Amino acid sequence: MTTTVTAYAATSATDPLTKTTIERRDVGPHDVAFDIAFAGICHSDLHTVREEWGNVTFPLVPGHEIAGVVTEVGSEVTKYKVGDRVGVGCFVDSCRECDNCRAGEEQYCTNPGMVGTYNGRGRDGKPTQGGYSQAIVVDENYVLRIPDSIPLDKAAPLLCAGITTYSPLRHWNAGPGKRVAVIGLGGLGHLAVKLAVAMGAEVAVLSQSLKKMEDGLRLGASEYYATSDPDTFKRLRGSFDLIINTVSANLDMASYLGLLNLDGTLVELGMPENPMPVPAGALIFGRKSISGSLIGGIRETQEMLDFCAEHDVTPEIEVIEASYVNEAYERMLASDVRYRFVIDNSTL
Ligand code: NAP
Ligand code: ZN
Ligand code: ZN
Repeated sequence: MTTTVTAYAATSATDPLTKTTIERRDVGPHDVAFDIAFAGICHSDLHTVREEWGNVTFPLVPGHEIAGVVTEVGSEVTKYKVGDRVGVGCFVDSCRECDNCRAGEEQYCTNPGMVGTYNGRGRDGKPTQGGYSQAIVVDENYVLRIPDSIPLDKAAPLLCAGITTYSPLRHWNAGPGKRVAVIGLGGLGHLAVKLAVAMGAEVAVLSQSLKKMEDGLRLGASEYYATSDPDTFKRLRGSFDLIINTVSANLDMASYLGLLNLDGTLVELGMPENPMPVPAGALIFGRKSISGSLIGGIRETQEMLDFCAEHDVTPEIEVIEASYVNEAYERMLASDVRYRFVIDNSTL
């Protein structure tokens, strides 16, 4: 037996998303079922449904920034009860046995990998479907608790954009005395600015233009530069200890690596469709590193949510009706969102 719920799904890489219904599994002993109140729209949703990262199984319901309220728990669930405010991020299961799972880095599960919230395959062998839907059933170990002070609509984007930026900022010790640059002021970028500032770092935004400068400074950045101005790259040569790249398109890596100080690191969070060449000299001169980072584990995601509650860090959002999703995708592609679209799932 299953439950039928309304959802928005992509039926091909080129057609708009449309309203449909999907089945949710019955609540198993370790499962939590919840009604989804809000779902954020991540650029990864768009990359995925347009098959920019490879073939997917259609119909596909995107959405991995999910917040809602528990409606039912399985007989052996201990962490949650009906009425709890909860969230789910980018994955809903993993092997739980490999070294990375045991270390709480489930996103790097090697056996064979985490089960994506959508476009994955659950233990029942069925395709997983994401948050652009009325309800979801997830094992309690992959569910997060949303602190009381964070409204559900603002909590949703923290489940992907929040943890994706929090994790590398922590890993590379963003804090007092560190100069951090954030490339791209979008969903991830604006949270990277807020989080790095809350951690005590000095933050600069590198955006394509100065259009969003007022916002960037209000979010806590102390500097803001346009990357369309070639002078920016001369002026900021060797300025940063850490650069967080959130851009969803290809950039000229050599120019940005030039902005790092000795031993500096550029962390790639954006995942554009095509490879980006890196000239060896751009790394060798200045002993620089280029790295990447994938979301964060369950334990760290909870830590991030609690940190956001404590430091009053929440995303700037534009709440939309579900039927607006295709326009929202186009606006996101045009960098015309301040700064995260969030679907009000009661409009599904
Ligand atoms: P987003 O809201 O669309 O933000 C991307 C920003 O990049 C834009 O706001 C824009 O900032 C800048 N940008 C876009 N096109 C550009 C271009 N052609 N040249 C230079 N800058 C450009 O997207 P998002 O949801 O934050 O996601 C960003 C990327 O991170 C996506 O590739 C997504 O798949 C990836 N992602 C990765 C992870 C992970 O675990 N690593 C998790 C989530 C998302 P300005 O207007 O300020 O220039
Ligand atoms: Zn995402
Ligand atoms: Zn594993």
